[in-house]
Amino acid sequence: MSPTYPIVILKAGREKTIIKGHPWVFSGAIREIIGEPKSGDVVCVTSAVGEELAYGFFNPHSDIAIRLLSWRTRIEIERTFWRSRIKDALELRKRVVPAGTTAFRLVNAEGDGMPGLIVDKYGDYLVISIETIGVERAREEVIRALIEELNPYGIYERSGGSARIREGLSERKGLLYGKDLPEKIEIREYGLRFLVDVMAGQKTGFFLDQRENRRKILHLSNGARVLNCFSYTGGFSIYALKGGANEVVSVDVSEKAIGMIDEHLQMNGLDTKQHRAVCADVFDYLRIDSGRYDVICLDPPPFARTRKDVERALRGYKDINRLALKRLAPNGLLVTFSCSGAVDEESFFRAVCQAAGEAGCSVRLLERLGASPDHPTLIYHPEGRYLKGFVLSLMESYEKT
Ligand code: SAH
Repeated sequence: MSPTYPIVILKAGREKTIIKGHPWVFSGAIREIIGEPKSGDVVCVTSAVGEELAYGFFNPHSDIAIRLLSWRTRIEIERTFWRSRIKDALELRKRVVPAGTTAFRLVNAEGDGMPGLIVDKYGDYLVISIETIGVERAREEVIRALIEELNPYGIYERSGGSARIREGLSERKGLLYGKDLPEKIEIREYGLRFLVDVMAGQKTGFFLDQRENRRKILHLSNGARVLNCFSYTGGFSIYALKGGANEVVSVDVSEKAIGMIDEHLQMNGLDTKQHRAVCADVFDYLRIDSGRYDVICLDPPPFARTRKDVERALRGYKDINRLALKRLAPNGLLVTFSCSGAVDEESFFRAVCQAAGEAGCSVRLLERLGASPDHPTLIYHPEGRYLKGFVLSLMESYEKT
C-alpha cells in the first residue's frame, strides 16, 4: 500500500513554479498544513484546489519549507528510493566523466533528485555531505545504498557549512565506513595527478566543479605567462604548465594549500622552476604586483552566501576584476569566476563590465563557463547554478598603468 503523507496546500497561484519543476517550496507559499509533519518528514504538496503536485522533505524551521523529491509520482522513502537514485546518478557520470579521471561528483543534490545530499568520489573513496534534515534522518539508508551500489573502500563525512546550520543541524565529520583513510587520496583528472586531503582540505577536498575550466586553461596557456589567483592546491597552475605555459604564478592565502603545489608539479613531471607560489591575499597582491600576464585566472571563494551579502559581493567582484584587468599584457585573457549562489550570472557580468570601465579597458567576451557536467542542475533551478565564469580578452587599454 502506498504511504499517506501529511498534506501541504499551497496558496492560489503558487503552484506554477512547482509544476514547471522548481525543487523548492518557500514557507511563504504555504496556505495550510493538514496533519502534523515533523522536520524531515515527507509531505505531499497540493495546489490550492487540491491537485497533488509533488512530494518532498519538510522543514518548518527553514525558509525553504519543502525540498522536492518527486513530482506527481508518489514515492516511498526507503532503501530502494536511494538505491535507484544513486544508480541513475552513476549512469549519468559514466557518460559525462572524461577518460583518465577518477574523481567526480556522484550526487549533486537537487540536480540528482536528492536535495541535501552531496557525494564526491575520489578514487575508491566517497566523501558525503548532508545538508538537510530530510537526508540526515535517512543517513543510514543513504550510506547503505552507497555501499551496495559502489562498494567503496571507505566513506568519509564532511557535513558542515551554512546550509546545514540554516537547517538547524550541527557540523559532522569523520569516517563512516571502511577501516582507514589515507592522509591524502591520489586522484587523476584528464590523466593529471593530484592529492586530495578529504579530512582537512576545503569543501570535500578538491574543487571538482572546475575540472572542465581547468582543461580550458590548458588550451589557452601555450607559451603564456600565467597568474593563477586563489590557486588552492594549484589545479589551474598544473593544467597551465601542462598546456605549455612558460611561467605560472600561484597566489593563495592558505599556506597549506600552496604547500601542496610543488608536490603536484613533481607528480606530473613538470618543472618546478617555471612555477612560483605566493602566499598572500589576492587583493593585496594585485595592488603591489607590477607583472604583466597573458592569462589571469580569478577563482575566489564565495563572496556572498545569502541575498543580504550580494551588494558587498558585487563590489568585491568589481574590485578584483579591475585589479586583474590592469595586470593583463596586450591581448591578454582573463578567466574569471563567481561561485556565489546568491549572485546571478547577469549581475556578475555587470560587475565585470564595470570593472573594465573603471580599468579603462576595452574587453571582449569569448566564452561563458559553468560547472562541469557531473554537477547537473534542474533547468528551473537557477539557484543550483552557483558557478559562473567568463573568458574575456583584452582589446586595448586606454590608460597607462
Ligand atoms: N581554483 C582552485 C579553487 C579555488 S578555491 C582549484 O581549481 O582548485 C578558493 C581559494 O581561495 C581557497 O584556496 C582559499 O584559501 C583562497 N582564498 C580565500 N580568500 C583569499 C584571499 N583573500 N586571497 C587569497 N586567497 C584566498
